[in-house]
Amino acid sequence: MPDYDVIVIGAGGGGLSSGAILAKEGRKVLVLEQSDLIGGCCSTFEREGYEFDVGASIVEVIGSIENVFERLGTTFQKEVDLVTCDPVYSCVLRDGTKVTVPHSMEGTVEALSRISEQDGKNYRNFADYTGGFLAETQKGFFSSALNGLGDFLRVFRASPGLLNYQDLFTSSYQDVLRKYFKSAQVQETMSFQSWYVGLPPELAPGVFSILGYTEHEGVWYPRGGMVAIPQALASCGERHGMELRTGSRVRKVLVRDRRVQGVVLDDGSEITTRAVVSNINAKTLYLDLIGEEHLHPLARYGIKSYSPSVSAIMVCLGVDYEPPLDAHHTIITAPYEEMNDYWWNRLQKGLLPKEQFGLVCWATKSDPSLAPEGCHAINVILMGPHALSGTDWDREKERFLEDSIEYLTRKAVPGLSDHVKVAEIITPLDYERRLLHPGGAIYGLQQDLSAQTVLRPRSKSKSIAGLYLAGASTHPGGGVPTTIGSGMVAADLVNKYE
Ligand SMILES: Cc1cc2nc3c(=O)[nH]c(=O)nc-3n(C[C@H](O)[C@H](O)[C@H](O)COP(=O)(O)OP(=O)(O)OC[C@H]3O[C@@H](n4cnc5c(N)ncnc54)[C@H](O)[C@@H]3O)c2cc1C
Repeated sequence: MPDYDVIVIGAGGGGLSSGAILAKEGRKVLVLEQSDLIGGCCSTFEREGYEFDVGASIVEVIGSIENVFERLGTTFQKEVDLVTCDPVYSCVLRDGTKVTVPHSMEGTVEALSRISEQDGKNYRNFADYTGGFLAETQKGFFSSALNGLGDFLRVFRASPGLLNYQDLFTSSYQDVLRKYFKSAQVQETMSFQSWYVGLPPELAPGVFSILGYTEHEGVWYPRGGMVAIPQALASCGERHGMELRTGSRVRKVLVRDRRVQGVVLDDGSEITTRAVVSNINAKTLYLDLIGEEHLHPLARYGIKSYSPSVSAIMVCLGVDYEPPLDAHHTIITAPYEEMNDYWWNRLQKGLLPKEQFGLVCWATKSDPSLAPEGCHAINVILMGPHALSGTDWDREKERFLEDSIEYLTRKAVPGLSDHVKVAEIITPLDYERRLLHPGGAIYGLQQDLSAQTVLRPRSKSKSIAGLYLAGASTHPGGGVPTTIGSGMVAADLVNKYE
């Protein structure tokens, strides 16, 4: 008898939702997490009385998280205290203009009409169109296994309305913005959102243009920090007998005759199992933990062909004043040409960001308990290369942190530099070291058209029996709700095949 029915590698959102559901449904489940923290990119850590998020800073389009908690016999809202973020964001355009976008459609139309009356009206059409597409995707597109053409056709048969949105599948994020909006400034208010999938506006697939709309369906922050979501999944799982071990790194997945047998931990101990759900980067899984000798030559070629997704730089600041910001999220944005240029001429060449666009996350606006009385916690997310040309992040990080504080003070948060009490930076190299994300890739694999839907690694491995994937490396890719939803897909596949 194997020691466990299922071993889950990694306690990110995908791994925990899978493990919790399988435990609830009677399986003997062990979740192994190499870090001392759970949640992976959706986690929170403490420094000198301030709580900072590791990665994700809000959730939106939460249907798939709600479905997972329902499967666990409870509700998302019962398990996690969600604070509504309104305004949904504020942005600082390149020329210094500030635009604040509220939750309400009328307020958004009004805010955009102040820049361009026509584009304000166009926003309604954009919202109708992308909102219609979002509604269609909720019928299964983002919550089904897409392990081949058969699955793909099944999803389209279940929601034929998706066919009305073909142009979103064949155009880029920026094409869609251009189609609806003529004012460069209005386009600028929505250009940064393409980075939510890790790509500049010209490379992000058009389907993600819904991100310019989804915030109007609601944006939430969990009280207690982003880690409150994985904590809730873990405690639901544990109530049903799921075992969770932190500080336990899986070194190898044992495979015999193309079937999973167990795992080997850092200390050399072996644990046997019938099935493995992997919540880690798919390239690391197949090439390092399993070994290419177990893969069919085509699968070997396929897995090697994926590129890592973009990485990020996270600046965490504890301050002793109330920052003069208008919203939980302030986007320091730029025209999309500048973002595209940044991708090709700085990111791809390993050059440090300059005059960066980025996202200022004011967590204590939504939950003041994350900082000492009268103080605030701010996270700033910037896009940065993992490998720097002619230098490395360990050498550059302190200077970069100082430069960033100066830049943020000048650009978006007046007075900031006089009030910083705690400052810490998480570089792409730190994401790699802390979470074992190769290349610091925050979404596992790149999310361009060549790695979408059936072209992304399958949630049920074709090469290795008993192996399932959850998390950012499989369909539908990075994001807290999508990865948590992918955990349910993996659990269903385990139930079906094991
Ligand atoms: C800076 C940043 C900002 C983001 N902003 C948002 C946002 O606002 N909203 C949103 O929805 N999404 C956001 N995301 C994306 C989102 O956080 C991730 O896509 C999602 O949390 C990934 O979940 P996952 O299930 O793939 O697991 P991951 O979070 O990747 O976790 C994988 C876990 O596996 C563990 N692990 C790795 N290797 C091993 C091993 N060998 N043995 C054992 N354990 C192992 C890791 O330690 C980690 O805990 C952001 C991400 C980042 C980094």
